[in-house]
Amino acid sequence: MNNKLYLNKPQFEAELERCLNCASKPCMSACPVNCSPQEFIQHAKKGEYKEAVASICKNNPMGHTCGLICPDQFCMKACLRGKIDFPINIPLVQATLINKYREDMVDGNKQPTNGKKIAIVGAGPAGMAAAWKLIKLGYAVKLFEKSDKVGGALNLIPDYRLPYEVIEDDWRYINRIGKVLVEFNTQVDNPLDLLTKGFDGVIMAIGEQNIIGLGVDGEENVVPYADYLKNPDKFAGAKRVGIIGGGNVAADCAMTAKNLGANMVTVFVRRKIFDMKVTKKEMEELLNRQIDLMTTTRVCKVEKNAEKLDIYTCSTQPGERGYEDLPDSVVKRRGFDLIIKAIGSRAEKPIEHANIIYAGDCKIGGSTIVEAVASGVDAAKMLDAKIKGEQK
Ligand SMILES: Cc1cc2nc3c(=O)[nH]c(=O)nc-3n(C[C@H](O)[C@H](O)[C@H](O)COP(=O)(O)OP(=O)(O)OC[C@H]3O[C@@H](n4cnc5c(N)ncnc54)[C@H](O)[C@@H]3O)c2cc1C
Ligand code: SF4
Repeated sequence: MNNKLYLNKPQFEAELERCLNCASKPCMSACPVNCSPQEFIQHAKKGEYKEAVASICKNNPMGHTCGLICPDQFCMKACLRGKIDFPINIPLVQATLINKYREDMVDGNKQPTNGKKIAIVGAGPAGMAAAWKLIKLGYAVKLFEKSDKVGGALNLIPDYRLPYEVIEDDWRYINRIGKVLVEFNTQVDNPLDLLTKGFDGVIMAIGEQNIIGLGVDGEENVVPYADYLKNPDKFAGAKRVGIIGGGNVAADCAMTAKNLGANMVTVFVRRKIFDMKVTKKEMEELLNRQIDLMTTTRVCKVEKNAEKLDIYTCSTQPGERGYEDLPDSVVKRRGFDLIIKAIGSRAEKPIEHANIIYAGDCKIGGSTIVEAVASGVDAAKMLDAKIKGEQK
């Protein structure tokens, strides 16, 4: 693993030392998977590293990945140490512990096989977490994934933030509890077909597959974020890059363009800077890398001009229906080599059936890894309760 991503020994020990061991455990209450930083930090402080890792993994099979990319809006926001100076970097303590001490650990807490079969569609974090929980509950699980690897949208996160081997490490941990059968390169269009093929239940964890369009003239010249992040090297020659969107996906596109040698990267954001959906760290990185943030600005047209692209923008301000265009504010900005849209995605309409349960981003909307994991685990528990209810 890339050691630069983790805390080194002095940093790790300093973070453990700063923890206040709060009896009220606000860090745990803020965690969507109910993991207790208070508990695992106290274990680690006493040198009980295996116990610390077991404490993390009992609630979260994706603990390594979460440790590297969990945003600062959960445990860190609640951490009481933040009232004195700054919060404990809980996710990085977690990632460092798992990276060093999980090794071949197996979660022994598994119920006997119950003879029931569950299909999971989508091998992103929600599907992976659902598989883990269902295997622990004694089910045989088969995953259907339309791409050729696990991880879902996590695979679009640039390598410098999340190397694929970290996702693989969590996947190996899940498979140590019981082998998850996976059919890659298999798209499931109708989950009802799986019920007729003998599965007792289906969990749909298909994320949000439909990228939201801008609805402006010239949109055909704009590259969707997923196409860009899947293969950024294809666009490596672009020197002047425009990104449309104000969240962490837009931030990843902007940083990737900069890393690939763009000398001018401009992010167009309809909202004010305070309303951007990026973490404090992401904002610092954008500013440190001299990426232009053009806030309260909406892209209203894109035009191809010989080999270059021009962007027309208008200014916005908060109004009764969200951010509204200011009249007579259109400005033409010339000379872009590449424009990327990253304003979000939408889920398919769900198919309703008592034994089909939706989980992750396709259920709760564009979320975070830890929320997707929590949703996958919840879906597994709901399906288990449903199937046990049928048996009575
Ligand atoms: C660029 C980017 C950066 C991000 N950064 C962060 C971050 O820093 N921190 C954070 O917490 N979150 C981040 N996220 C969000 C996080 O990745 C998602 O919230 C999470 O992956 C959602 O998990 P999911 O399992 O619900 O869906 P997904 O991860 O989207 O997985 C869905 C899976 O289903 C498969 N699938 C879809 N339809 C079918 C079908 N019909 N048949 C078979 N398979 C199908 C897909 O191929 C995919 O593998 C980021 C997302 C992106 C795109
Ligand atoms: S809130 Fe912060 S300081 Fe308190 S126990 Fe949790 S991690 Fe430690």
